[in-house]
Amino acid sequence: MSRLFTIVAIAAFIPWAAAAEPCPGNPDALGTARVLAVDARTTPRVGLKHFPGTLPLRDKELVLTFDDGPWPTTTPRVLNALKAECVRATFFLLGRNTDAHPRIVQRALAEGHSIGHHTYSHPLLNQMPLDKAEAEINRGIARDELAAYGAAKTVPTTPFFRFPGFASSQPLLDRLSDRGIVVFGADVWASDWLPMAPEAELQLLLRRIAQAGRGIVLLHDTKAQTAAMLPALLRELKKRGFRIVHVVPAGGLVSH
Ligand SMILES: [Zn+2]
Repeated sequence: MSRLFTIVAIAAFIPWAAAAEPCPGNPDALGTARVLAVDARTTPRVGLKHFPGTLPLRDKELVLTFDDGPWPTTTPRVLNALKAECVRATFFLLGRNTDAHPRIVQRALAEGHSIGHHTYSHPLLNQMPLDKAEAEINRGIARDELAAYGAAKTVPTTPFFRFPGFASSQPLLDRLSDRGIVVFGADVWASDWLPMAPEAELQLLLRRIAQAGRGIVLLHDTKAQTAAMLPALLRELKKRGFRIVHVVPAGGLVSH
């Protein structure tokens, strides 16, 4: 009780320490500094690469996001690296992969990560008829929901979505914001769709993060080079004084 009170009292004066929790087995962990509730009413689209605004992050705060998984050879390695540092991230899943590997989705959920959506099969949605594009989004959401929570709903428990290839269109953006779904772009990326050595990817990303100073970082948990460099990235971010922010839906998870 008194220890809890002390933590709460300290947290009141040091806001960035508010959600920091001890990390079992790793006293020097990067950790998750705070939780940020994201609401489609105030921030319907975030990420300066494609949108005019982004999340209200402070200097040296980063949100880690991973696209295209789950993938059996790489996502578990990514989850291991995050777990070792008590870092919570957001995964934008492909329905066809959650169909094939639901247990990895369940593990990510059990370890506290946010489960966002990234369509069923990764088409460029701005090159299809509107209704077909929305059906593809909904098919992805339903398969992800089934894997994570056991029911194939098209109202997402976590209303976060990222367009494959960032190929959005205004009518689709409007439909998503009407549904209260936040569209995530990115502020920083590792270009990990290009083959490169893990060390080269690490150095490239660290340079870009230093330049941006804060933001939503896009990675791919399907890429072996990313899984390989992630432990070193997290250690280096800790050394350089960066803090991790975990994004969750405003008002909590939508329950059915
Ligand atoms: Zn993708």
